[in-house]
Amino acid sequence: VRRLFLTFAIATLVPVVALGWIVSTATRGSIEERSVELYGNTTSTLVRLAGSSLFRPEDLAAGRPLAEPQQAIVDGFLEALEIEPTTVRVLVTDPRGNVVYANWRGHPARVPVTDAIRAALLGETTSDLVTAGESLNGRGWRGTPVETAIPLALAGEASVDGVLVASGLDNEFVDQVHDDVRRLRLILAGGLGALWLLLLPILASVSKRLRREVQRNEHLAHHDALTSLPNRQLLEERLVEAVARADRDDGLVGLLLLDLDRFKEVNDTLGHRAGDRLLVHVAQRLRESTRAADTVARLGGDEFAVVLADPEGEPEIRAVLERVLQALRRPLTIDGIELTVDASIGVAVYPVDATTGDGLLQHADVAMYAAKASDAPFAFYAAEHDPHSPSRLGLTADLRRALTEVDDEIVVHFQPVAGSDGRITTMEALVRWQHPARGLLAPDAFVPLAEQSGAIHLLTARVLDLAVAQARRWADASLDVGVAVNLSARDLRDDSLVDRVGSVLHHHGVDPSRLELEVTETAVLAAPDTALRLAEQLRATGVSMALDDFGTGYSSLTNLKRLCPDRIKIDRGFVAAMSDSATDLAIVRAVVDLAHRLEIGVTAEGVETQDQRDRLEALGCDQVQGYLLSRPLPAAEATAWLARWHARVEMAHRGE
Ligand code: C2E
Ligand code: MG
Ligand code: MG
Repeated sequence: VRRLFLTFAIATLVPVVALGWIVSTATRGSIEERSVELYGNTTSTLVRLAGSSLFRPEDLAAGRPLAEPQQAIVDGFLEALEIEPTTVRVLVTDPRGNVVYANWRGHPARVPVTDAIRAALLGETTSDLVTAGESLNGRGWRGTPVETAIPLALAGEASVDGVLVASGLDNEFVDQVHDDVRRLRLILAGGLGALWLLLLPILASVSKRLRREVQRNEHLAHHDALTSLPNRQLLEERLVEAVARADRDDGLVGLLLLDLDRFKEVNDTLGHRAGDRLLVHVAQRLRESTRAADTVARLGGDEFAVVLADPEGEPEIRAVLERVLQALRRPLTIDGIELTVDASIGVAVYPVDATTGDGLLQHADVAMYAAKASDAPFAFYAAEHDPHSPSRLGLTADLRRALTEVDDEIVVHFQPVAGSDGRITTMEALVRWQHPARGLLAPDAFVPLAEQSGAIHLLTARVLDLAVAQARRWADASLDVGVAVNLSARDLRDDSLVDRVGSVLHHHGVDPSRLELEVTETAVLAAPDTALRLAEQLRATGVSMALDDFGTGYSSLTNLKRLCPDRIKIDRGFVAAMSDSATDLAIVRAVVDLAHRLEIGVTAEGVETQDQRDRLEALGCDQVQGYLLSRPLPAAEATAWLARWHARVEMAHRGE
């Protein structure tokens, strides 16, 4: 910045000095010219008066010095006019430069025909300040004489016979001119200097402000504006440094990636300002629960990262995790509302889990999603979490094969859903994978994989086909039940879904009213516009739509209004909590009421006890599903179960 200031100072000084120089030279020139002209005019009038009466044309034509008596006359005349050789030297020359007269001793016999003489021969009088060297008369003089060359036209104006050169060394006059010029220069230099000095403080403040701006920009580029924590870019830089250090010292680097649970809810319900304040608190608590050498960064949204510099090993990382979680869970009051913050943390360790900073970030991310999926507060990276890890890649290939080359590995189990009269209305199709090496896999183990690898359309198509085919078989066996099929978020972005559903129903000859499609709120939220349009088109074909896992997603009421499903399925979390928690009971009651007012049916999921079933019935819940009735069963067992249940219900009804 000092350099910047200096550059500015010098850069402005140059034009100021240049301006001063130009103005001063220009004015000096004109001052001198005017003064000389004035002086020259005075002298020339005097001398012209004298000259024309003292010289004769033949004196000049001869080009010889005047004779002694003539000379004395002229001398006398000039003296009478107080023109003294000490102050004014007068010389008369013929057109060729032969000196005819001079008023001082030791004058030259010839002078060069200068521009001034030539001009005078043409009739023009000129006056100039000349140096002693240039002066025709002034050899031996010091200073700057004013030299005036005057034409001598003795026989009238028609022709010029010679030239009279008068050189005045009037020191007083010259000094005065020089004084004037000097004063002018002083004023100019003072004024411009003051102007420049005035500029300096302005420059100084501008460059200081610039410096601050630069520093601020630098900080902004590397920090998050809200929490002032390092941002992703700086985190990545620090990670690279930490990895290099670990390499050198044979040490470790721990990376925690942290995502707040249900942060969006805080934002949606309390507003963004409250959300921001929560983030600031979280940032502060993360800082407090880590060491100064660790880097806490905000990666955006509700995602944070902590780089643990050189942890001793897993126990130390676990200790940090505990501290962090404890700090986060400490209740927090925002806008008078007490909140507790939960987070899912993914952990990856260099060089165990990755060989680069980037890899570490990726793997911590995988671990974080694993933590989220498992409801555990944190998870260390493990290859099986990772869709890109070799074992997951193997499984993805297996799944593709199971969906395209063989037709007996993907199977569907059915779980009954009972209405309040005890009759089974629907059988929900829940997919299973009979993996040749790993045994029977639950949907959690491979549905996300199918979603990530793009095989989900094949999987949905397979389940749809199996379920609808089974519906046909049950109809043929006079078992009057519908089937429900789960869709994934990806299915709701695919415009061909409506046609595919239609053609499966047509192919098996099943009425659309026997098919229910279940979607989750999060799936709808992933692409709201397409999802809502597809849902509407599906309902128009007579297929019913259910909103699955109701209550676990966000902004439930909005979705309810926009999607307007035929039924909602209350998540089993509420059902499980209902018996112990008055709040959950109240939520279920409110949801049932709300749904009924909107003419939406309600199914309770995960009903495991008779007590839960009784309470739900008391609340007016239309349908129950859960282990109390039956676990999901393979098709054949489900059919047998259905037949038994059917007979029992019929008997009970007949008995009434
Ligand atoms: P979901 O649709 O909510 O299915 C209910 C899940 O709860 C099933 O788990 C079921 O076995 C389980 N469940 C039922 N009753 C009870 C109970 O009383 N207690 C407890 N603790 N659990 C009960 P499952 O079969 O593991 O399926 C898990 C999830 O996987 C399903 O949740 C659904 O979202 C998804 N899914 C299942 N099949 C498919 C499919 O074909 N396609 C897609 N995209 N997703 C599927
Ligand atoms: Mg379901
Ligand atoms: Mg569910």
